[in-house]
Amino acid sequence: MASPFAMGRRIARPGHCFTSLVHLRHSRFSTNSTSSPSSPDQSLASSSSSSSVYPPPPDSGEAAHYAPSSFPSHSSASYFHFEVLHTSKRSGARVGRIHTPHGVIETPGFVAVGTNGTLKHISTLHGNEMGVQAMFMNTYHLLLHPGPDVISSAGGLHKFIQHKTPIMTDSGGFQVMSMASRDQFIYSHQLPEEKEEEEAARREAEAEAQGIGDERSKKLLARARDREKNEESGYISLVQRINEDGVYFKSYRDGTEVVLTPETSVAYQKSFGADIIIPLDELPPVNCTDHNRLLNSLHRTHRWEARSLLAHKKDPRDQAMYAVLHGGVDRELRQLSIDYLTQLPFDGFAIGSSTSAGPSLLVGDLVSLVEWMSPKLPKDKPCHLLGIGDLESIGDCVAFGIDTFDSAYPTRIGRHGTILTRQGKKSITKIENKHKHAPMDPGCSCFTCRNYSASYLYHLHKAYEPVGMQLTTIHNLHFMLNYFKDVREKIMRDEI
Ligand SMILES: [Zn+2]
Repeated sequence: MASPFAMGRRIARPGHCFTSLVHLRHSRFSTNSTSSPSSPDQSLASSSSSSSVYPPPPDSGEAAHYAPSSFPSHSSASYFHFEVLHTSKRSGARVGRIHTPHGVIETPGFVAVGTNGTLKHISTLHGNEMGVQAMFMNTYHLLLHPGPDVISSAGGLHKFIQHKTPIMTDSGGFQVMSMASRDQFIYSHQLPEEKEEEEAARREAEAEAQGIGDERSKKLLARARDREKNEESGYISLVQRINEDGVYFKSYRDGTEVVLTPETSVAYQKSFGADIIIPLDELPPVNCTDHNRLLNSLHRTHRWEARSLLAHKKDPRDQAMYAVLHGGVDRELRQLSIDYLTQLPFDGFAIGSSTSAGPSLLVGDLVSLVEWMSPKLPKDKPCHLLGIGDLESIGDCVAFGIDTFDSAYPTRIGRHGTILTRQGKKSITKIENKHKHAPMDPGCSCFTCRNYSASYLYHLHKAYEPVGMQLTTIHNLHFMLNYFKDVREKIMRDEI
């Protein structure tokens, strides 16, 4: 297989990379900006009149179901609203508050990813104490384990996991449909040199660990790594079929068939009780560059999002729903997505982006895409960027008015021994830390840096002691929370 890695910085799907600079969830369409409209459907994309723009249904008799006029107009709910406190005089950056039933998210804000209902190595209560404003969890994982019945009978996610602040859940679609393309799926989205570097460091650490950790610890660690690898990359391809109804797949845990439709995804997310939920969407085949195919997929995504919204509106349960805007880097498709979805009464918007294992989306593409899209979005609704975790992209996108960002990146690299500092990333397992009996980040006030030395953390990571992973994760989470606090203060002073 030819190397999928493009030159330069590239966007990678979260959960598939330990060291990539940027992570995007809900990766979508392949780069195809050179296609020109030729079919009647495609001409919709360039239409400036949005009143007739809605996704063509499977049969014309159902057209009315998807027309924006068939939806109730949006009204700010008592349990969810967004207020803008200040817009920078220098940029489109803004400071705001998203009010939810479980408290306020100060924006721009970081949404920590807790795939299985927890941050890895940090309990939810500890996360709350540290100031985690919101968490992002994956319906796919929670659906398969422990299952919606367990979470529902426990009184919902907040009670089940003892998390006190707002929770976002996704639809489950991305993980499922990624599996459908497993044969072409890339297990790691790391740059080759990053992968080599990490593998070398791991081999070195493992060699050094001989004689330090006991055999049981090593086996447990190996098992945990295998599990994490399965969670984050390949799974087992058990998708049975994808059609207009939704996705049919078998649980990778026990082989039982699971049906994920717009309606069942909403129902699962209702049983979880997250504050912000996401409609089901479709992932086109990887490496697809056929414009018509991508357009048809976009239309199906729009129909699924409309069906999700209808199901949600029938039983809101104090939850908000964000639309996910699609179209990859194809601006005609993006425009079509904006035209249609902004007419529906969603409570906010999320920007998904390009490619799961297909052509790479460079960081420059992403930033330019967000710059282009932001002015087209309603100013009175919050906008979330899915799966972005590197500081450079966050900094750029904050200036275009993005309000929230979710990413597993800071906690993932933290548990693997890479810490974030104002001076850049540092590896705790470098030999220079062996005798450094001082905090690993002297300027940091986190629990780890206040109490432990770099030399001790070096030792813990080299000895594969789980507490080492916990301590470096704590530092990175603290770093991200403070980074966003600084960003908000700078916007208030019009410095961003
Ligand atoms: Zn620290």
